[in-house]
Amino acid sequence: MFAEVAFPISNFKTFTYEIPKNLISEAHIGSRVVAPFRKQKIEGIIVNILKSSSFKGQTKLINKLIDNHQVVTPELWELINWISNYYMTPLGQVAKTVFPKSLSTRYKPQKLWFVESGIDIDPLRFEKLKKRAPKQYEILNLVRSKSGPFQVSLLKDFTSNPLQICKSLERGKLVKLFEKEIKPNSDHFSFGSINKRISLDRNQEEVANSIKKSLESNIYNPYLLHGVTGSGKTEIYINAVRYCLKKGKTAIILLPEISLTPQIAGRFRSVFGDNVALWHSKLNQQQRSWTWKEICKGTFRVVIGARSAIFSPLKDLGLIVIDEEQEASFRQESPSPRYHARDVGLMRAKLNKAVILLASATPSLESYYNHQNNKLNYLHLPNRFGGAKQPKVHLVDMLNEQEETGKSGQVISGLLQRKIEEKLNRNEQVILLQNRRGFSPIIKCGDCGEIAMCPDCNVAFSYHKNTNNLLCHFCGFSKINEKQSCSECNSKNLLYFGAGTQKVQAILEETFPEASIERLDMDTTISGINITKILNAFNSGEIDILLGTQMIAKGLDFPNATLVGIINADQGLHLPDFRSGERIFQLIYQASGRSGRHQKPGEVVIQTYSPDNPVIKCAAELDMDKYYEIALREREELDYPPFSWLSKIEITGKNYKRASQLASTISRKINGEYSGLKILGPAPCYIEKLRGYFRFQIIFKSQKAIDPNGKKLHSFIKTNFHSSNKKYSNSQSRINIHFDPLSLI
Ligand code: ADP
Ligand code: ZN
Ligand code: ZN
Repeated sequence: MFAEVAFPISNFKTFTYEIPKNLISEAHIGSRVVAPFRKQKIEGIIVNILKSSSFKGQTKLINKLIDNHQVVTPELWELINWISNYYMTPLGQVAKTVFPKSLSTRYKPQKLWFVESGIDIDPLRFEKLKKRAPKQYEILNLVRSKSGPFQVSLLKDFTSNPLQICKSLERGKLVKLFEKEIKPNSDHFSFGSINKRISLDRNQEEVANSIKKSLESNIYNPYLLHGVTGSGKTEIYINAVRYCLKKGKTAIILLPEISLTPQIAGRFRSVFGDNVALWHSKLNQQQRSWTWKEICKGTFRVVIGARSAIFSPLKDLGLIVIDEEQEASFRQESPSPRYHARDVGLMRAKLNKAVILLASATPSLESYYNHQNNKLNYLHLPNRFGGAKQPKVHLVDMLNEQEETGKSGQVISGLLQRKIEEKLNRNEQVILLQNRRGFSPIIKCGDCGEIAMCPDCNVAFSYHKNTNNLLCHFCGFSKINEKQSCSECNSKNLLYFGAGTQKVQAILEETFPEASIERLDMDTTISGINITKILNAFNSGEIDILLGTQMIAKGLDFPNATLVGIINADQGLHLPDFRSGERIFQLIYQASGRSGRHQKPGEVVIQTYSPDNPVIKCAAELDMDKYYEIALREREELDYPPFSWLSKIEITGKNYKRASQLASTISRKINGEYSGLKILGPAPCYIEKLRGYFRFQIIFKSQKAIDPNGKKLHSFIKTNFHSSNKKYSNSQSRINIHFDPLSLI
């Protein structure tokens, strides 16, 4: 028997191998294998089983199967094929994304030795041992003083090789010695159990019942769950998952941000206990391997996690929830497949005949539009739970502030300062959003005007004061700000413009010396454990002011937080991208939604230099319908999604000229155009150089009126750019295809 195997390479070719006799009964389509490939042994996936090989040369043997039982379900296999086809990515690469390397059902957790006394010993023997082998005697004494089994390695303080001594003791039948598997603990990514007495209100009940009915009928049912901030969406998820498990099915909950995990995990664990697995990037290899194996085994029936949790190998999937479905983090930009977990989720739900909830207080314009066009069923929670009111919003015009105070670049306005003082005096808590980490986003020479830039990207360095380094937020390159002088003219007169979270923190500490202030951003949460710690401390009231980036803007629920301050609402507002307005609106609306969610009424202070901008205005009025109407009209006029299908190709290369030549050749030679297709570019990307590669882009817009399901655009891209036809190429440049890109910059 032979197997056709796909490897994670950029080529769509598959390769034929012979299946060793002893593996024939276990090797199926979708089995992961290790096989010899170009002088190496690498992981691939079987895409077909053949009786005979048409390959003329000598076929090599598959080395081994990675898993000891079949992991892929028929639906998951279909999903892999759909992703490969839709995002034009070779199956081997898709398989590698769905089943990351070093995960296997054969994983064996680490084992540790334990020693236990539990045997009656003749006192005479005991005395003899004291003289003959004093170390053994000492350890035996210690083990006997413990009530239960004791980890052998903890005896290292007494002797360099405690296992040897324990083995001697065991031979003399003085102790019991055994090995035990240690299950990796990931409790520190979750709050403790959050127990609540829940009885759904009438509105929640109605929503929950609709979902129940769908779960009952076992048909694909995609919903938009639109619930304002604080309306109790989490309780709806819990209700639906409970029902799903009762029916013997499993569920996936996708979260857009790791900072949302601890609270939701705590709540879910109090209801579903050990059924719940967490899946995110901060797990270490052991935690990942163990969690994944247990998901395959069926130990876990609910997976809560980030983007890649959409691929959890759960059987009998009944429910998918995409929480904060509008978030860009659900999109994988690189490497291929450049997929959107929401779209993959919709397809997975369809294949599994499952229910999917796209949930948010601020749905993406696409989902909003799809609900208007009856492509998504609509569930609405228009009010906050328990009669809590929406917060009162104050808009501060920072230009006025500048004129009145005579100071430019104020970070905290008079009003925000007063409001913070007020809340602190009342022992209430404050959340401040500054969606930029570091100290200053721009360092400029005061003498020659040079701006410090990353050598590999066309991007200004950010200054991080705590570590005294210059960091590129795009590629991660950093260097110590050693001389603190201009690289052009050596002047020491450096100006640090703008404010990141570190600078805001410094200002807050100076202004409110009594308050306890913590910062939550990528820099303070590298280990992941800190996220839980900081959020826990804020939850229990140990922290007065929580300052952070978008990590704290959504999903979180703190009853005593009654003020949200948005330091710079304009951050990102003027980026040349058709979605920048939508993003800023959602961010401000979501952040405001953290204030006054329970009994105590909430307030929001929004600081802006553009008070008349419709995005800021609508956000300050918390008027979603109005903004979405404006935004949809704009999109329609310009043929942007949701009124068109969009794709983008990116031409990148280390050699500027070659890349730019390829971009112009493509735009000259493209064929198969049709009415309804608009082509923009080629043009340099907004970030022209990234990680040492020059970048150009061409954008394709296909009107839905002419191309209702996007098939025309898909086949146009396929004809022109599918990597297997190598129509356009030069040796030094690459073409990346992005379907439904979230951003054009
Ligand atoms: P959302 O995710 O929609 O912003 P949450 O699910 O966080 O809202 O709910 C807001 C708060 O109201 C939470 O503290 C939640 O526990 C509480 N809550 C919501 N529904 C109920 C209910 N039916 N009974 C008791 N508490 C509820
Ligand atoms: Zn200079
Ligand atoms: Zn860089």
